[in-house]
Amino acid sequence: MDTMNKAARSGLMSRIRSEGTGPELLVEAAVRRLRLRFETHARDLPGRPDLVLRRRKVAVFVHGCFWHRHEGCAKSRTPKSNVGFWTAKLDANVRRDKRAARRLRADGWRVLTVWECGAGDRAAVERKLRRATCA
Ligand SMILES: [Zn+2]
Repeated sequence: MDTMNKAARSGLMSRIRSEGTGPELLVEAAVRRLRLRFETHARDLPGRPDLVLRRRKVAVFVHGCFWHRHEGCAKSRTPKSNVGFWTAKLDANVRRDKRAARRLRADGWRVLTVWECGAGDRAAVERKLRRATCA
């Protein structure tokens, strides 16, 4: 029997492909269009931001709506089976995200979050990046 519902499974799949996934590539493309230099998955920084513009001290997280609980987003519903398991797991992710952002900000970084569901909105992503980088 399949115990995982559709959302959980697609969330799981996106975690397996966690490096270089669709939404991430869209944000990378936006950064390139703005001609900004960036690194990916900076392992030396809290939370391993997906994109890092080191000189400008901007860290960008591209979050899957399910795994990181995008508030108010249809893609972020908790699965109806194994509710306890999922609630604990997803809440832990959110706590980890918050902790990473807090630590980065304390070190003088600007932290941007681009949600999976918004990554395809070119204009909005570029606007967000421009605002954070003054590019
Ligand atoms: Zn979302």
